[in-house]
Amino acid sequence: MTPPSAPPGLPAPTLDLGGRTALVTGAAGGIGRACALRLAAAGAKVRAVDRDATGLETLAERSASAGLPGSVEPHVLDLTDLDATELTAAGTDILVNNAGLQLVRPIEEFPPDVFHTVLTVMLEAPFRLIRGALPHMYGQGWGRIVNVSSVHGLRASAYKSAYVAAKHGLEGLSKTAALEGASHGVTSNCVNPGYVRTPLVEKQLTDQARAHGIPEERVLTEVLLQDSAVKRLVEPEEVAEAVAYLCGPQASFVTGTSLVLDGGWTAH
Ligand code: NAD
Repeated sequence: MTPPSAPPGLPAPTLDLGGRTALVTGAAGGIGRACALRLAAAGAKVRAVDRDATGLETLAERSASAGLPGSVEPHVLDLTDLDATELTAAGTDILVNNAGLQLVRPIEEFPPDVFHTVLTVMLEAPFRLIRGALPHMYGQGWGRIVNVSSVHGLRASAYKSAYVAAKHGLEGLSKTAALEGASHGVTSNCVNPGYVRTPLVEKQLTDQARAHGIPEERVLTEVLLQDSAVKRLVEPEEVAEAVAYLCGPQASFVTGTSLVLDGGWTAH
């Protein structure tokens, strides 16, 4: 279905993704859950992918009890299974590459197997999902790829070698997909949040405290929010709204770019 466009001079209509199928990875928690609910609220049929079966069930129940116009279908999958991952993307109109993980450790102590897993989940799996989704998108002349990157797709931080490498790679993959997809009606963009209020951030407070040699209660203000002009965490729902914008009719000319929600971090 073609989403409605705004008549000239009038405000944009409410986002309508009725008839669209969306795949969101890492949907069991944090930003992914907010994205799945936002797209289902716009009417999309959401394939919610995660390795966390319990989290996916909770999400599906929440979506059903909220009576959203779209739906959420749980799909339990470990994204390190790359062949299964690529197959999952077939028939998808909207792809949100969101799943991620973090380890904060100096390079000389960083376990190579963790580096490999981070790159697999956060870069190679998105490549395989895009690869699996494009034939359907190209066939119908419409598709939306949104890659949840980070400020760390644009800037580095010490002790995050795998994460920063994966996010910088994701930026390149996203831009390449934009160039290849443009003539087929497919856009590809990144969304780049600063620190978001999610379990991924809560889990790294201890690691950051150890790496920087300061108490955990000082990590938020002295490490995480040090470069943010706006001194708060961004909410998952704010990130989901940016993702929804990129899926809507107002963003059809927006491709190959990065929508930064960083409270002014990269303005430095
Ligand atoms: P989160 O930890 O709350 O959620 C990540 C989800 O990914 C989890 O549900 C987890 O089960 C899933 N996942 C991880 N490995 C997987 C695998 N192998 N197979 C399937 N699922 C897997 O994290 P979040 O904060 O919501 O992060 C989501 C995305 O946003 C990530 O790409 C992250 O890098 C990015 N991001 C987060 C922040 C932040 O501050 N939280 C900031 C910028 C970007």
